Amino acid sequence: MPTGVGELATPGAGRTVGVLALQGAFDVHRQRLEQLGAHAPLVRVPADLDGLDAIVLPGGESTTMSRLLTTSGLFDELKGRLIGGLPAFGTCAGMILCATEVLDARPDQRGFDLIDMTVRRNGYGRQLDSFEVDLAVDGLGEPFHAVFIRAPLVERIGSDVDVLARHDGVPVLVRGAGCTVASFHPELTDDARLHQLFLESLSD
Ligand code: GLN
Repeated sequence: MPTGVGELATPGAGRTVGVLALQGAFDVHRQRLEQLGAHAPLVRVPADLDGLDAIVLPGGESTTMSRLLTTSGLFDELKGRLIGGLPAFGTCAGMILCATEVLDARPDQRGFDLIDMTVRRNGYGRQLDSFEVDLAVDGLGEPFHAVFIRAPLVERIGSDVDVLARHDGVPVLVRGAGCTVASFHPELTDDARLHQLFLESLSD
């Protein structure tokens, strides 16, 4: 497998990439980032946003995350920083939080309106609730093994949004507004190459 975290350079050296840790699969993201040499503090309250070079918005349950973002006081602070240019890597629920339009969401679900795209929550349907595929990803030589869990389905992307990977013709990894978002869970295998690409994108 082309994983080899041990063989990777340390593109995270000197970088502080916070990991939103209100709910969901945040701790494995922290481990991947630290394997790549980044400092990866957990973000739970507004003061935790100080000094970050970027932030990871993990998978989990976007409805719950939206509620906890509000009750923790993080929502407005974090939205302001994201709009001000703080780069984000959003995965699954994290993608939902970044999209400008979310279908099949509760009416009170809030998001950051960052990337011009429409996603449908749990859009792969019941039978395909969870599945795994090997994806060809722009910038990676070998395919990336992607784990989808009740993933959002991307139904539209704006003209300024770049597609880095598709599955069955549907975008599943895109970049826009300084953020990279995946509809799958790149932290759930030991392949750290997408975290590496994100860290490298911070120097663009
Ligand atoms: N279905 C979840 C949601 O709507 C996302 C699932 C995930 O992050 N694995 O938030």
